[in-house]
Amino acid sequence: MADTTSSTTTVKPAIAGAPSAEPVPPAEIGVIGGSGFYAFLDDVTELTVDTPYGRPSDSLFLGELDGRRVAFLPRHGRDHRTPPHRINYRANLWALRSVGVRQVLGPCAVGGLQQEYGPGTLLVPDQLVDRTKSRTQTFFDGEPQPGTGAVPNVVHMTFAEPYCPVGRSLAVTAARGRGWEPVDGGTMVVVEGPRFSTRAESRWHAAQGWSVVGMTGHPEAVLARELGLCYTSLSLVTDLDAGAETGEGVSHEEVLRVFGENVGRLREVLFDLVTTLPKTEDRDCLCVRAHDGWDLGIELP
Ligand SMILES: [Zn+2]
Repeated sequence: MADTTSSTTTVKPAIAGAPSAEPVPPAEIGVIGGSGFYAFLDDVTELTVDTPYGRPSDSLFLGELDGRRVAFLPRHGRDHRTPPHRINYRANLWALRSVGVRQVLGPCAVGGLQQEYGPGTLLVPDQLVDRTKSRTQTFFDGEPQPGTGAVPNVVHMTFAEPYCPVGRSLAVTAARGRGWEPVDGGTMVVVEGPRFSTRAESRWHAAQGWSVVGMTGHPEAVLARELGLCYTSLSLVTDLDAGAETGEGVSHEEVLRVFGENVGRLREVLFDLVTTLPKTEDRDCLCVRAHDGWDLGIELP
């Protein structure tokens, strides 16, 4: 199914507080940066975007990389002020789609659940387990859409493959190209947070054979799917989760330290990946077909 987004469309509103600013061209690829990852490109236009679901975590930062238009969004806000369970995931994905984004890359910090996935491991998961508790995880909740009043229909999105197979494959290739052999596949279990796991929880997660544990991968992935967006997670292991350690367990300082040591090469991998992703109109994956057979009842931006 061809995407009809025109490459000549401009994005409104322009920069908040600067009504005379020139409209900027739309983006096609979104990058949602996690803990320790608060900027992507240098030459960017900052856009404040409102959505029917409220404000996203921060402004969108639009820029260009080798002819590809990219919108960056710091998942927790640029000051890391929003904890995982308070992130407005619906607003984040909606905002990205509203500026033209159709493919989303979600780098994030995770804990390794298996001994072989130590700090510095890059894992490109192919499966997800949701253990969150309090998060709105659908646009199709039967309630009138805030702002528009449109009532979404009941929609059951296919989610057997939670990640874009094309994006995953290209992410693995991009990492290898930078000499960073990634783990190709694996299961991310997403917990509610903001606390880290107990040792018992961590041992249980590991015993299931799951690979890594994070706090933001859900509902980000499913909301992307509901909007017909490709979503690829690049999970950087910053610690061996509580149960795999013999010390006092993971600390936030340790997470940020290891992420900081690796954020440079993670950014390089993302640079390469952005340039190899298919053009919006050339996408041919299950994500594009997510809405086939469904009458959504709401209009997507
Ligand atoms: Zn896809």
